[in-house]
Amino acid sequence: MTEKSRPQIDPDQPIDFGYETIRAADKQDRVRSVFDSVASSYDIMNDVMSLGIHRVWKDTLIRMINPAADQHLIDLAGGTGDIASRFLKRGGGKASIVDINVEMMMAGRKRPDLSALQNLSWVAGNAEMIPFEDESAELVTIAFGLRNVTDRSRAIAEAFRVLKPNGRFYCLEFSHVQNPAMARVYDLWSSALPGFGQLIAKDSESYQYLVESILRFPPQEELAAMFAAEGFARVKYRNLTNGIAAIHCGWKLD
Ligand code: SAM
Repeated sequence: MTEKSRPQIDPDQPIDFGYETIRAADKQDRVRSVFDSVASSYDIMNDVMSLGIHRVWKDTLIRMINPAADQHLIDLAGGTGDIASRFLKRGGGKASIVDINVEMMMAGRKRPDLSALQNLSWVAGNAEMIPFEDESAELVTIAFGLRNVTDRSRAIAEAFRVLKPNGRFYCLEFSHVQNPAMARVYDLWSSALPGFGQLIAKDSESYQYLVESILRFPPQEELAAMFAAEGFARVKYRNLTNGIAAIHCGWKLD
C-alpha cells in the first residue's frame, strides 16, 4: 500500500502511551511534552541510563550502514543529532534530521561536536508524514523514535516512500531481552530509572513513560513483519546486548 492510499488512523482509536491507553489523536502531544521536558538533559541522561552503552549501539548501527560520500540519510526522530552526526563523521555525504520536537533539535544545535559539520540540516516534521519527496534518500534511520510514533506502520510506509530504489531503512530501538536471567537484572535496572530521572532531570514521569513504552513495543519478529507488510524486502534484525535493543533493517528493492 502506498502512503497516498493508506487510511489515516482513527483519531478515537485507543493507543498505548506507556501503560496508559489514550486516544490516538492525543499521543503526539503527550510525546512532545515528554521530550520538551527532557530536551536539555537528554544527552546526559542517555549516558547515565544506559551506562554509555547507547553509544556502542549507535556505533554498531553506523558500521552496518557503512556510510559513503554519495549518500543522503534522512534520520527520523533524530533528536539531538547522535545518528546524523555519526553518519557524517564516518564519511556520509548529507544528513537531514526530521523531528517533531524543536526543543530537542535546539539542544542538538548547541552541541560543540556538531557545529563544524557540513551538510547537516534540521527539519521540524513528523515521521508519519516525512517532509521529503518520494525517492529522496539512499538511507532512512530511526533510533529510539519508532516507539514514540502514533501510527508506526504509517511511519514505516513513509520511510519506504522517501527511499530511492535499493535504499535501506534501519530502526534502532529498545526491544525484548532474550535470556530470562538477564531479563530479571534488566527489569531491576529499569525500575530504578524513574528515580534517576527525578534525581538528574527532576522528572520521574518521563522516565516512567520510557520504561513502560519499551515493555509495550512490539517484539523483534513482530516488528520485522511490520517492515515486510509495508513493502520492505530482505528484512533482518540483530539483537544488541541480548535484545535490550535491536537493529531492524529492510531494503526497498528495485
Ligand atoms: N534519535 C535520537 C537518539 O537516538 O538519540 C533521539 C531519540 S529520542 C528518544 C526520541 C525522539 O523522537 C524525540 O526527539 C522526539 O521528539 C521524536 N519523535 C517522537 N515522535 C515523533 C514523530 N512522530 N516524528 C518525528 N519525531 C518524533
